[in-house]
Order: sequence, then C-alpha cells, then structure tokens
Amino acid sequence: MRPTGKLHLGNYVGALENWVRMQEQYDCFFVIVDWHALTTDYADPSRLKENLVDVLLDWLAAGLDPAKCVMFIQSHVPTHAELHLLLSMITPVGWLERVPTYKEQKENIKGKDLDTYGFLGYPVLQSADILIYKADVVPVGEDQVAHVELTREIARRFNSFYPRKGVGGYAAPTATPEELQRRFYIFPEPQSLLTPAPRLPGTDGRKMSKSYGNALLLTDPEPVVRQKLKTMVTDPARVRRTDRGDPDVCPVGDLHKIFSSKDTMAKVYEGCRSAGIGCIECKSWAADALVKILNPMQERRKKYEDNPRLAWDILEAGSARARDVAEATMDEVRESMGLDYGPAKDSTK
Ligand code: SF4
Repeated sequence: MRPTGKLHLGNYVGALENWVRMQEQYDCFFVIVDWHALTTDYADPSRLKENLVDVLLDWLAAGLDPAKCVMFIQSHVPTHAELHLLLSMITPVGWLERVPTYKEQKENIKGKDLDTYGFLGYPVLQSADILIYKADVVPVGEDQVAHVELTREIARRFNSFYPRKGVGGYAAPTATPEELQRRFYIFPEPQSLLTPAPRLPGTDGRKMSKSYGNALLLTDPEPVVRQKLKTMVTDPARVRRTDRGDPDVCPVGDLHKIFSSKDTMAKVYEGCRSAGIGCIECKSWAADALVKILNPMQERRKKYEDNPRLAWDILEAGSARARDVAEATMDEVRESMGLDYGPAKDSTK
C-alpha cells in the first residue's frame, strides 16, 4: 500500500478487511511502499513519514496483528532496490509501455511530469516487491491484475535465463508441477487473489476517494461521520419526504448493504419504497452502523497514537524479518546470475 496518509472506508472494504482475514490463512507480508510514492510524488516528499505512520496506525486499527503477519517499510529492505535493478536488465521496455495503468495515469494525473524512468519502471519495482518473498498469491483489485500478470512474465523470463545452479538428476515421478518449478527455478509465478470488493460510494455518490473530497475516514469521530452522512446525496427521485425512493439507486442504500444488519436493510427497503421513512432517519441508521465499525478501530488506534514507539517497534521488527527473507532470496538470485563473488575487497588495506 502506498503511504497516502489516513485511510478511508473504501480502503477498508476494498483491501484491509480482506487482509485482516488473510493473516489467519497465509504467511502475509504487508508493505508500505514509500519508494513507489516517489514515482509520482518525487517533487515533494515532505509528508512521506507522516503519511506512512498514518497508514500503519490505520492497519493496526483495522486489525492487522504483528503476531500474525509481517508489516514493514519498503525502503527499510534495500534488497528490493537490488532486485528491481536486476529485473530491469531483463524487462523489455515494450512490456512496460503496454501496462494499462501507465498510459491511464500519465493522462489522468495532472500537474506532475511523469515522463520519468522511475514512473515507467514502477511495475518492475512492484515485481521485485512480490518476487523477493516468492509470493504465491497477491491480493489485488481489478486494476492491478495486469501488474501481477507482468510479474509472472518477468519471473518466467528470469527463470528461463537463470535456472537454479547445480540442480540435476531425476525428479520423483510423483512431483507436482509446483514442486518441479521450485526445484529448478527460483521464482514461483504469483497469482492474483481477487476479492470481490463492493463499490463504496463517497458522500457525493462517486467512488470514495480522498482526491474527490467525498471520503469517510477511518479516523473520523462520530459527530463528523454523522455530519458527513447528513450531506450525502440520495436517490434523486426522492425530492420531497412524500416521494417514494429506491435504495438500489441511492448511495446511502449502498452503505446500508455493506454495513447494516438484515433487519435494518428490511426497514430501509420497506420505508424508502413506501415513503414511510425520511432520508434523515435512514441516514442516521447508516451512521449508527458505521460508528459501530469505526469505534473499536479508533480505540485500537488510540493505543498506538498515545505510544508511537510501539508502532515504530512493530515496523522495525517487521522490516528485520522481511530483510532476512529477502536476503535469502537474493543469495539465490546472485548465485543463479553468477554474481556470488562476495563483497568487493578494499585494496588499500
Ligand atoms: S430513504 Fe434512505 S435509501 Fe431511500 S432515498 Fe432516502 S437515504 Fe436513500
């Protein structure tokens, strides 16, 4: 995740909620990618540290648990940069120019010069982030599937140039394709793990995004949540209290579908379609549901806000663990590429 500062409910239902579940089933590595932030925001890195702390606090608030997963900062594991460099040697420029988000972001992000080597190459850095942990799966949204596909292509190309050294003999006839793959090659080909994330509308009905100014933040206190909900757009057909509406075309209805109980949903459908309830009442029920989710998160967050050292300790311990795993992979990479000739000797001594 990029260090974009405080997270919103869209980040929660689109990614974090799923990550919290995944930490129970997988060996998870969650990374705050500060170098990626520089690919677009290189001109002003002044808020980087503050933003990454906010992301970490929101992760912890949402329920990521350092006893169950590894949380770390990308730049604290310098081997990501080494693998990025090595992978960039074998990645054809055409592959990067064809990445759909490359063109899209260049056209849509205004006021920044993205004609840079770093911006073109950021999917290679992303591939290094994934491959250095030999990830089997990467939880992504639809827009990132092409990046995981590119990672697979880069892994395949690396494996074909640099198979493991000294692996010979016969493999057991019962060996699975995965076992064979791991025996002969360093990098497994990671798969996208797509989780169907509901589209979360912001207060203006568009997709929730901090850049639209329509977001409900995980840190918003109850009065702010209620105030934001009050201004939220509703079914445009419901102009007067006596007009009937339809929760299926109302952004508040979308919030209810994600966060409210079945009983509340039934009341919303019945009351809206018969004009039996007003939008103000309906919105207060949605606010109740949101506050119920946000309150425990904000309590957890406060524990770390009051003691920031605790949060840094988690990042430092996670970064140390990540460095160990990444370094072990890099030993294999250097060996397979014939770069395992040890550190340079100081000829002046
Ligand atoms: S009653 Fe609720 S669902 Fe219906 S239009 Fe108003 S806010 Fe939307």
